[in-house]
Amino acid sequence: MDKSTQHKFSENMLQYLNDSPTAYHAVENAIGMLKSHAFQELKETEQWSLQADGKYFVVKNHSCIIAFTVGDGDLAQEGFRIIGAHTDSPSLKIKPGACMVTPDGYVKLNVEVYGGAILSAWFDRPLAVAGRVIVEQDGRLAERLVRIDKPVCVIPNLCIHFNKECNTNCGYNKQTDILPLLSMKEEGVEKGDYLLNLIQSETGIEKPAILDYELFLYEYQKGIFMGPDEEFTSASRIDNLCMVYAGLSALMESEDGRSKFKVFAAFDHEEVGSATAQGAHSGFLPHTLERISKNLGLTDDACFQAIANSTSISADAAHAVHPNYSDKHDPENRPVLGGGPVIKYSASQRYSTNAFSAAYFMEACRRAQVPYQKYVNRNDIVGGSTIGPALSSLTTIPTVDIGTPVLAMHSIRELGAVADNFYAKEAFRAYYEDGES
Ligand code: ZN
Repeated sequence: MDKSTQHKFSENMLQYLNDSPTAYHAVENAIGMLKSHAFQELKETEQWSLQADGKYFVVKNHSCIIAFTVGDGDLAQEGFRIIGAHTDSPSLKIKPGACMVTPDGYVKLNVEVYGGAILSAWFDRPLAVAGRVIVEQDGRLAERLVRIDKPVCVIPNLCIHFNKECNTNCGYNKQTDILPLLSMKEEGVEKGDYLLNLIQSETGIEKPAILDYELFLYEYQKGIFMGPDEEFTSASRIDNLCMVYAGLSALMESEDGRSKFKVFAAFDHEEVGSATAQGAHSGFLPHTLERISKNLGLTDDACFQAIANSTSISADAAHAVHPNYSDKHDPENRPVLGGGPVIKYSASQRYSTNAFSAAYFMEACRRAQVPYQKYVNRNDIVGGSTIGPALSSLTTIPTVDIGTPVLAMHSIRELGAVADNFYAKEAFRAYYEDGES
């Protein structure tokens, strides 16, 4: 496959990652992509009137989005083709009571860990702040996305002279060791104002209007290509915005002149268990599928038929074999960077793949002419999970868990391969286009 095409796709993907420091921004940028391809926004709170060949999306909490195309065929018989991913990534979240002033005059941010972050990777990196604030405007509550894209704080390492074992024993206390340094104490500044002053000066949002916030730290350094031939991508949030971008791209590329019932869903809160209104372990997707079906005039019985004829893909980052820790993998199932999307298996169903769902994904890869790999945990290592089990159990739709292979998963800077980003998108496109003429 043409390497410049692969490189161009990854360049656009890196741009999406760089532009999306939080789940809110990931959804905002997804909205922009969808609107530019003539997808129309539906509000959950308003009546829907879906048209054949229509293209739509619906947003929940500004951190979860479901986009879909309406086919002109028989939904009850065809069912939906669904790809799911997640918008959130491990991070540090700013707590209420955001600022602390130490007796020595340092101003620190009070943060908590969001998800399974590799904390050591967060040290000594210039960090920026993004998220959303809720403001009162004309007597109503309104949301404002916030991005202070400046290196405003840092978590300094303790020098090796005071921590001689730092290279052999780097345990961190999550309460006391990871609080970022924001500034030095200023006379006359209230403790609570250091962060609010920053928001006001950088965004123009008036301090008194801010009722509450959900703000996260992110690495100021942008994602880049690397390697002698730029064969790798090094970036924050590869898990899982690379799958969000690949899924969205496949949906938009596959829709022109087509008429199938295709769904792309990107959920929030996968990194903390998915059990929220905007997480995969919610009614949002099953309710939306039912709502689409009923809006198109299907009877209750036909709605059940549509579900029974549907398939889905849960797309999330996968563990590539590590060059320095190769014994962490199963002896026979050893995915590598650049080898194509990884099908994940788990006898205990931490991944939802079964032989049927793996087979339809392998068929999509074959039609797209992309390679694929397989992953299963070593028996003595538990490994991770995904949105797959939630998707399949809530919707009762067969689901295959797949993902693009990465190294350093959940580090502030993960490593992927240029070829894999493109392979995943091509496989998704082939899945959506199956049976189309
Ligand atoms: Zn993930």
